[in-house]
Amino acid sequence: MSSLIRRAAWVDPKYPVTGPAVNLANIDSIVIHYPGVDPGALNLDNPVQVLRNTHLFYLGKGYSIGYNFATFPSGRYELRGFDIKNAANVNHNDHTLSINVMVNGADPAPPIQVQYTRDMVEDIWAHLGREVPLIAHGDLPGAATACPGVGVRSQFAQFIPAAVAPPVVNPPTALDPEERMTQLYRKTNKAAVWLGDRRFRTHVNREGDLSALEAEYGPVVPLDPSADLGAHVGRIVVGNDPGDI
Ligand SMILES: [Zn+2]
Repeated sequence: MSSLIRRAAWVDPKYPVTGPAVNLANIDSIVIHYPGVDPGALNLDNPVQVLRNTHLFYLGKGYSIGYNFATFPSGRYELRGFDIKNAANVNHNDHTLSINVMVNGADPAPPIQVQYTRDMVEDIWAHLGREVPLIAHGDLPGAATACPGVGVRSQFAQFIPAAVAPPVVNPPTALDPEERMTQLYRKTNKAAVWLGDRRFRTHVNREGDLSALEAEYGPVVPLDPSADLGAHVGRIVVGNDPGDI
């Protein structure tokens, strides 16, 4: 995952970011913002300048830059971070964190910035130890704003990380992979194998319509129960199978 660029990398020491502490136990959502500027107004190639200017703008209103994090086409940045309470979501700052997806106008973010935003969400989830939903600033109760704009809004689904893999509990590395697959096969029409610390799965459906499986994974080799199971690993997919183990 991309690394978070810390506050010290952009902030002018003369104007530190300050505010009350976050109570992370209260956080129940991540609010997505955009800068809400005219097309072309921000030089997104210069995040340090953009962030310093934004911070100064808010200092002029009496408080530090309000967002916890921001993403640019060149990386993701800590603003208030995990230590200073969000100040971007009026009436909701006690229970939210915020990410500002830095775009001009109502542009969508380029793919690399979408990736940084998704990394940021994943990072927050990891930091909280739980997955909290994303919400558009304008969808917060009581908020009347176009934020985060039609472009960023259209990308919400891409900001959500793939399901976080469940923790690996006692991978049976001592068990022969084929034996493991055999045991699982007896319980279901799917099988999974452990190879080292990675789990693989294979579909070895004995009967019925395989078209859905094949559409997803390619040709599935039917199992002949009398044959060597190892010959029936038709298609191996790295992943997590909620139906097994
Ligand atoms: Zn906003």
